[in-house]
Amino acid sequence: MNWIIGAVCALIVTVFSYFYRFLTSGGAVAAFFMGWLIFSLGKMTFSVPILAFFVSSSLLSKAGKSKKDVLSGYVQKGSRRDARQVLANGLIPTILLLLWHQSQNSTFAALYFVSLASATSDTWATEIGLLSKRSPRSLLHFKEVPKGASGGVTLLGLSGALAGALMIASTVVLSDFSTPSLDVSYKVILIITTSGLIAQTVDSLLGVSFQVKYCCPRCGETIERQTHCTHVKAVRESGWPWLDNDMVNLLSILGGVVFGWIGLEIF
Ligand SMILES: [Zn+2]
Repeated sequence: MNWIIGAVCALIVTVFSYFYRFLTSGGAVAAFFMGWLIFSLGKMTFSVPILAFFVSSSLLSKAGKSKKDVLSGYVQKGSRRDARQVLANGLIPTILLLLWHQSQNSTFAALYFVSLASATSDTWATEIGLLSKRSPRSLLHFKEVPKGASGGVTLLGLSGALAGALMIASTVVLSDFSTPSLDVSYKVILIITTSGLIAQTVDSLLGVSFQVKYCCPRCGETIERQTHCTHVKAVRESGWPWLDNDMVNLLSILGGVVFGWIGLEIF
């Protein structure tokens, strides 16, 4: 029965997201399977925070769209999330949910929330930071970097990261009332929030240092996508070829989870 309810809920969310152009068709398929698993196994406690992440990020990516479209020649992808982007954000939470389901160990539950706070901080920082009037700066050398470039941070973006982490932490507190067995303490809430900020920092540092950047042979601009100026193939300029924006997201969520795990063990 749970599997049927889970499938229906996942289908409603993904069909809606596809028609409102939050997801590409590939993104919708990936999100459906992930949602099916999480809604079926995790019930309300695990579903509400991931829905909060998904809905808020989708709406934020459409906010100030005309301003963001100006930057879309530079960044890798548009505002519709494809399968790779969905997996980059959802794979680690899904694995942690499965580990929790198999073991019933509350550490995995806490780390599931940590991974969602990390994904939310990253996304909110990017989407809100793009609306900043000031130029972003690199966390590595504090020099200004182009708007929309990976790794640049603004005060507005950092506030977005904090707000995103706090939003997830509050949905966790609310769901804990429905499942008191999870034993979510102030310590866990603090770790969830801090991990979000750590993940955002990892994201910025990787983005500005090792993330792959390309150069368009026609206009000479440094970009993060492989094609530019109507389908001209760009040449790699710096960074590791495999480390694109999606891999940076995945690794920063992993960074948040590792920090969260150490935090849970030490404190
Ligand atoms: Zn170009």
